Amino acid sequence: MAKALVLEEARRLSLRDIDLADDLGAEDVRIDFDTVWICGSDVHYYTHGKIGPFVVNAPMVLGHEASGVVSEIGPEVTGLAVGARVCMEPGIPNTRSKASKLGVYNVDPSVRFWATPPVHGCLTPSGVHPAAFTFKLPDHVSFAEGAMVEPFAIGMQAAARARIKPGDVALVTGAGPIGIMVALAALAGGCAKVYIADLVEDKLAVAARYDNIEPILIPRDDAASVLRDATEGWGADVVFECAGAAASIRTALEAVAPAGCVVWVGMPVDPVPVDIVLAQSKEIRMETVFRYANMYDRAIALIASGKVDLKPLISETFAFADSIAAFDRAVEARPTDVKIQIKLEHA
Ligand SMILES: [Zn+2]
Repeated sequence: MAKALVLEEARRLSLRDIDLADDLGAEDVRIDFDTVWICGSDVHYYTHGKIGPFVVNAPMVLGHEASGVVSEIGPEVTGLAVGARVCMEPGIPNTRSKASKLGVYNVDPSVRFWATPPVHGCLTPSGVHPAAFTFKLPDHVSFAEGAMVEPFAIGMQAAARARIKPGDVALVTGAGPIGIMVALAALAGGCAKVYIADLVEDKLAVAARYDNIEPILIPRDDAASVLRDATEGWGADVVFECAGAAASIRTALEAVAPAGCVVWVGMPVDPVPVDIVLAQSKEIRMETVFRYANMYDRAIALIASGKVDLKPLISETFAFADSIAAFDRAVEARPTDVKIQIKLEHA
């Protein structure tokens, strides 16, 4: 039995003992979790009890953006030792699957992802994870930053899918945590400037603290015209759509340059119309993003190099004992909050 933050059903959390499988396999490590960030998906399961086809039908431990310290290693583990500071990819694919063999293990239909029903998450003092999906953190990268590698990896995946060329000008629609992560990854990936559009001024203010990220406040300013003005009428080389709203999906197609690229990152709750002819008339390329594959080591390298600084995104820290309060704070969705972290305690 272990104490954990359990989502019993929609809108009901408890901090209680629960039986969690924790057998250490030959290629697994045991980790004392240190920091877990609350993700939009955790909050959505809390408020709605489901995301699309994933429905919480039984009590489930929340949390999937985590870092910690290795406390035990399986007999066949190499490259990780007890005491190593690490962060973990929360998705465990079947390494023999066709998707894994193709290098696209993020779309393996049998992937088991923390805190996606029926798989338990990591808001509990310790857990077992495959060493192959556990990554060492350099000494100067904090646990807080390490746990943020998970959402940043989505930004990395988006930047990689865009095939950015040095000097590209990009637009990000939506300045939530993922929008900001995408903007940072796009700059690190070679964009000269990244414009970011949102309806909420406080969110834009967080993004605008970074060099070369330019805020666009809608509806005061029109993102497509701002991009045209900035590019002699040409448009954005890349648009990363991170809001998942019908209006911003329309904006993405309007703002993208001829022969440019739109990357669909945000997930609309319901199907939305897309103007295919507008896309065809510019012969744009469209890419989609679902989580990430093979991005953790690259994300850690960028953070360690100082090229990407995630520290300004840390909004508030709660103790594990106050996890439910932390989630209620996340539900409030204060415009000045970017990321809320929970610190686990160890004797
Ligand atoms: Zn997440």
